[in-house]
Amino acid sequence: MTRTTPPRPLDVEALFPGLAAHRGTTTRLHPRPGKPEASVSSVGGPMLWPADEPWPVCTEAHGRGRGRRPADIRRERQILATAWARATTPGPTDEERGLVEELRRPHRIPEASETDPLPLIGLVQLYRRDIPDLTGGPDDCDLLQVFWCPFDAHGPGRYDMLLDLRWRRSAEVGEVLALPPQPQVVGFDGYVPEPCVLHPEQVVTYPFAGLLPEELCARIDAWEQALEEEAEQSDDDDSADPVGYQYDLSIPPGWRAGGFASWHTTDPSPEDCPTCATPMKLLLTIDSSEWDGGSASWRPLEERDLVPHPSATPTKIRVVRDGELNIFECPADPEHPHCWNLQ
Ligand SMILES: [Zn+2]
Ligand SMILES: [Zn+2]
Repeated sequence: MTRTTPPRPLDVEALFPGLAAHRGTTTRLHPRPGKPEASVSSVGGPMLWPADEPWPVCTEAHGRGRGRRPADIRRERQILATAWARATTPGPTDEERGLVEELRRPHRIPEASETDPLPLIGLVQLYRRDIPDLTGGPDDCDLLQVFWCPFDAHGPGRYDMLLDLRWRRSAEVGEVLALPPQPQVVGFDGYVPEPCVLHPEQVVTYPFAGLLPEELCARIDAWEQALEEEAEQSDDDDSADPVGYQYDLSIPPGWRAGGFASWHTTDPSPEDCPTCATPMKLLLTIDSSEWDGGSASWRPLEERDLVPHPSATPTKIRVVRDGELNIFECPADPEHPHCWNLQ
């Protein structure tokens, strides 16, 4: 099934013609639970990884011997999904509650040292043929694979995440690794993806308001403020939130490739490549939800009739208090180190 973004509530370029010069595109990935194979783009699906190539590992020193088992996390999700889907008396029974409590118990691996090579989790793989806005990477590579360490324990402060991005030529992969290693325990359940197939859809997008020319940004701010005041004065509790540039008109929520980063929790702080000083470009956004109450206007037409919650968090990935992770690439040389930002 395709996924179709509804038309925006209003034509923002008609309102602010200056925006046309800043129009871009992004590809919403629309991940949904499924059974992807290594030959297709997926979140949390099997990676097209050569059987004779070492699987990516984390070797940074940090505790890795205590956490939850990935199989327990998936089982808990299954139990809760089944419980909440029951037509009569939805929600977990006492028995299910007890089971979930047991599954949430942390486990210890006594023999794990702080520097044992820890298998990374395969998070997402994207074939260029599927994703129009997957424009980064070396020209001769057609597959991007993203891995991460399931512990918040890296960098100088020892609380950062660790990502590993690989580009490859899929035609060169012979035998595929059938059973990739996986961590025995993870530090946080939000690092463990549910297998999802993708339904890529290219949509129009505009930059974060704070990164537009000052005059244009000021006009958008003034327009939004007027709408908010109008809504406050209308005194009608049932009226929906007014349409806004940030949440309805510029940057879609959810997993997406290319386009513009949102800077809604910090001041805009786009970075230059640490190696060559070229401004970095957004490669991929990993989001904790596909939409929520504030961004419900992006909910695909095909899913208008579903209960909001289950469809909004199909991957079960959670980054920074249900926020999003933006991964940037150097457009001058994709071999230069990536950088990322949490919002
Ligand atoms: Zn690590
Ligand atoms: Zn660079």
